[in-house]
Amino acid sequence: MSACDCSSHCGPSDLMPLEEALDLLLSHARKVDESEQVPIDDALGRVLAETVTSRITMPPWDNSAMDGYAVNTTDLRQAGVRMPVSQRIPAGVSGTPLLAGTAARIFTGAPIPAGADAVVMQEACEQAGDHVTINRLPVIGANIRRAGEDTREGDEILPAGIRIEPQHMGLLASVGVARVSVYRRLRVALFSSGDELVMPGRPLGPGQIYNSNEFMLDGLLRTTGCEVIRLGIVEDTLEATCTALLKAAEQADLVIASGGVSVGEEDHIKPAVERLGSLDLWKIAIRPGKPLAFGHVGSVPFIGTPGNPVSLFVTFCLFARPFILKAQGVMESLAPRAVSVKIDFDWPRPDKRREFARARMELDDQGKPRISVHRSRSSGVLSSLAWANGLAVLPENKPLVRGDSVKFLPFSELLR
Ligand code: AMP
Ligand code: MG
Repeated sequence: MSACDCSSHCGPSDLMPLEEALDLLLSHARKVDESEQVPIDDALGRVLAETVTSRITMPPWDNSAMDGYAVNTTDLRQAGVRMPVSQRIPAGVSGTPLLAGTAARIFTGAPIPAGADAVVMQEACEQAGDHVTINRLPVIGANIRRAGEDTREGDEILPAGIRIEPQHMGLLASVGVARVSVYRRLRVALFSSGDELVMPGRPLGPGQIYNSNEFMLDGLLRTTGCEVIRLGIVEDTLEATCTALLKAAEQADLVIASGGVSVGEEDHIKPAVERLGSLDLWKIAIRPGKPLAFGHVGSVPFIGTPGNPVSLFVTFCLFARPFILKAQGVMESLAPRAVSVKIDFDWPRPDKRREFARARMELDDQGKPRISVHRSRSSGVLSSLAWANGLAVLPENKPLVRGDSVKFLPFSELLR
């Protein structure tokens, strides 16, 4: 690649601040219009297109939180009262009104019979034959789960624009919703530029390396819930790049390419996208991953990421991911939740660009988090990403010492 990826000969004035680039990029993200009804079983990871309102109250009636005996507290003047067991109410059965002076054997989840105002747990009772001795006096309402304590009919239980997680699937099922309306998945086509690339499983020839970006990008894309269309390796010629771009744009809502985004003779993304649409090449004030291309092939948005694997990973997480989430209708905050963590290293020579360092968070003996950074800052060292469990945000132009706090972006946030 020929455009520089160094810190020595690009003045900071050429560089675009991250926030500006992200705002600009997101201003081009159009939400998919179409939605579809899917069974809740298939809704995991999909984006809810409509707010869901509960049609029932949950629980529908007061019910027992324990296996025990339902009583009326006015029948119990002191502990040790012995009373007849007048009925048995397992879960799934509605009992009859409680007869005065009696207890009802009751089980967790069973409706509280009319006339009862407390449940005494079975461990505090002794049943002998058809009588029970209540050894502990309950307060009114003890061990009763109230009708509607979870949701009420007409409540908005899930807002449009959230990504459905397992607990949402459970909540939907709990109020009897079997199908939900979700946005259709964004279709994202990807290809990798580079004459040096070979697919894993084949032998490497002289000068060749394996195409790792395609697999990492595929995985990164799948974490966003989009549909991935893989177009493979594209040779470093203008014609091949134009052909790949056209093929990608025909099928997809977004095209992502890795490699070839710089401005050397072997980098054809820029002229190819310009021939078919328009392109801006942004030099963003971050390290790694300075060059990012954004444009359109016809009317289809295009993101060109650096070929260096670590730069690709970082630019994907910081730019492509929020773009895709927004286009898929996500209305929650698109910014990953960074946590503030103390560093376990000195950082005397900061870059003039904000650095997203491959970092590993561990807990010290007191259970306090600390982060260390990988010894390699090279954007080609993919093993460093596998070592890391997040990215440490090291501020531009600010030396740090051990014990200072920085923002840390756990991969669990970036890749969810
Ligand atoms: P480029 O952005 O095309 O100049 O590539 C920058 C560096 O990333 C070069 O060392 C390429 O060999 C490497 N690279 C480009 N594409 C891939 C890929 N798909 N998988 C692994 N490495 C790549
Ligand atoms: Mg290349």
